Amino acid sequence: MKKTVIITGAARGIGRACTELFAAHGYRVLINYHRSGAAAAELANSLQERGYRVALFQADVCSRPQVDQMVEYCQAELGPVDLLINNAGIAQSRLFIDLSVEDWETMIQTNLTGVFHCTQSVLRTMLPRQQGKIINIASMWGQVGASCEVHYSAAKAGVIGLTKALAKEIGPANIQVNCIAPGIIDTDMMVPFTIDEKAALKEQTPLERFGTAEEVAACALFLASEAANFITGQVIGVNGGFVV
Ligand code: NDP
Repeated sequence: MKKTVIITGAARGIGRACTELFAAHGYRVLINYHRSGAAAAELANSLQERGYRVALFQADVCSRPQVDQMVEYCQAELGPVDLLINNAGIAQSRLFIDLSVEDWETMIQTNLTGVFHCTQSVLRTMLPRQQGKIINIASMWGQVGASCEVHYSAAKAGVIGLTKALAKEIGPANIQVNCIAPGIIDTDMMVPFTIDEKAALKEQTPLERFGTAEEVAACALFLASEAANFITGQVIGVNGGFVV
């Protein structure tokens, strides 16, 4: 039976790779975007041309009303939500001492509170059905901390804590909650880094390269599959051995 997935931040990077892969595996995909309307529309068109069932919805994950509308729209257009991939996120590199209150709040709102909004909104539809899966895209920096990314690391550590606690709470409802902690993945998020910084990050990665968005998507596809039905509350590293 065909399943429905909401993917946040689906127009670019890891979210886009997830959209392509899940659509190709028969999922109906709700493509969420915030600012990348043109990229989202182009992606939706190209998938629809290939015969895949997808729909588009603009929502800021920081806004509960927008998230609730997105979940309602998804149910109306594509059917009950079987899977949520909380992928939307931002990054910022700044010394902790220089962080403004706004920097802090924007980071926590987007990368942690956004996960809360989407997860709670979707769970209200999953709990009565006693089935569903949630996959959160955290980061290895949430596991070990990154210098100059304290607010990012704190938000991602929060996502990991949310994942573990929620998995325990809703396990009895037959809903699995897991997170993927990617290492350095070659997307737009890496654009602000200098050539030297990128070289240093590659050197610290045992596999001596960056990961691809497709490699993260492949892990998400496995976690979403029935083969992963006994996996919940876990943090799966897709990091080339950077954090072991
Ligand atoms: P990109 O910068 O390529 O994409 C970020 C995505 O997040 C965009 O689709 C963007 O949507 C979306 N987004 C940002 N803010 C919001 C918002 N308020 N509401 C809805 N969508 C939003 O980054 P990646 O693909 O690399 O990152 C995806 C996830 O993976 C993030 O959570 C990131 O923290 C995590 N990650 C990435 C790593 C990396 O090395 N690249 C490593 C570890 C984790 P739009 O463009 O439409 O505004």
